[in-house]
Amino acid sequence: MELTISTLTPLWTGGIETGKVDRIHETGILGSLRWWYEAIVRGLGGRACDPSKGECRFDAEKYEKHKKSTATDERQRLRDAGLRDAGLCDVCQLFGATGWRRRFRLAVVADKTQPDPAIRAKIQVNRTYTRNKKQITPTWYFPNNQNDQPRSGTFTLRIQSLAPNFQPEIIAGLVQFIADWAAIGARAQMGFGVIKLERRIDTTPFYNQVVAAAGTEAYPRLPSLKNIFLARISPKNGGTFSDQDTFNLKYDLRRLFANDQALRHFIMGTIKDQRIAAKVKMSRPYNMGQSDDQEMRVWGWIPEEADVYQNSWNRDSVVDAIYQHLRTNYTLTVWREMNSARDSVKPDLSDTCEFLRSLL
Ligand SMILES: [Zn+2]
Repeated sequence: MELTISTLTPLWTGGIETGKVDRIHETGILGSLRWWYEAIVRGLGGRACDPSKGECRFDAEKYEKHKKSTATDERQRLRDAGLRDAGLCDVCQLFGATGWRRRFRLAVVADKTQPDPAIRAKIQVNRTYTRNKKQITPTWYFPNNQNDQPRSGTFTLRIQSLAPNFQPEIIAGLVQFIADWAAIGARAQMGFGVIKLERRIDTTPFYNQVVAAAGTEAYPRLPSLKNIFLARISPKNGGTFSDQDTFNLKYDLRRLFANDQALRHFIMGTIKDQRIAAKVKMSRPYNMGQSDDQEMRVWGWIPEEADVYQNSWNRDSVVDAIYQHLRTNYTLTVWREMNSARDSVKPDLSDTCEFLRSLL
């Protein structure tokens, strides 16, 4: 199966070996696919191993034994054949683990992307703050070397099944989900990786696959469809966005948590002391369809439980602060969040399957 994809914001998929973006690398795309698949499976209460505690390992011998002795379905046999308590989780079953290969192969077959000349080496935020009596303007730096740059253009992603019972349409549906709501590739927190598919993909095979994994596991400290929010914003009063607005917004959201440094680092990320990945991401602006109307995406995951929550901060107050900021300063086109009155399409929806269906 082949998908023709064009970039709406430049795509960064730096290869692991060289760190250079001389072409679109499959590994960066695979990383995003796995991240979202995990988050969706967790939201449905399915089994997803925690990569920080080590991925699943597959025991072929145990699997063969189970094959003969038990009458359960294939999914259950794979779960049982793992060496850990969790077995081969619903994510590793597709994406592979030690001893078990990925069920599909990804290849970029017609890469017509080019290093994006519009990417500036440096973006200064339109804000200043004072530290030790010095005025500081937050500044972001991006590589401007030809071989190490985000790329824009069109490419074709080939998805090939490597197992007789695996439909490539499942992965295509996941790509469609990411194209609709988030971004693909590395450094999404820098606003890269919003994509568009030339033709819409039927997401039914993907939906059926993940819903079959539904269970009763809970993940209050990990990314999950249950704790994710997905939003789109446009400029207020007919204004326009520039790339600077992405970083202005990043700065402003950090300020929401100014009174609590640990929380701020936990939510917005930090490279100080100990590296923490940002949980809230925002795209660079892009044009919607053929029109000049611009939008930006803002999305993230805020866990139900975290050691940094104290005083009045908890998941709901963090998400609400972000929501109120967007609603006040932009036209908030859409806000999706499960089990929440803030959701602009299906408020207070508590059923994850229904919520997922409404996103597809
Ligand atoms: Zn696993």
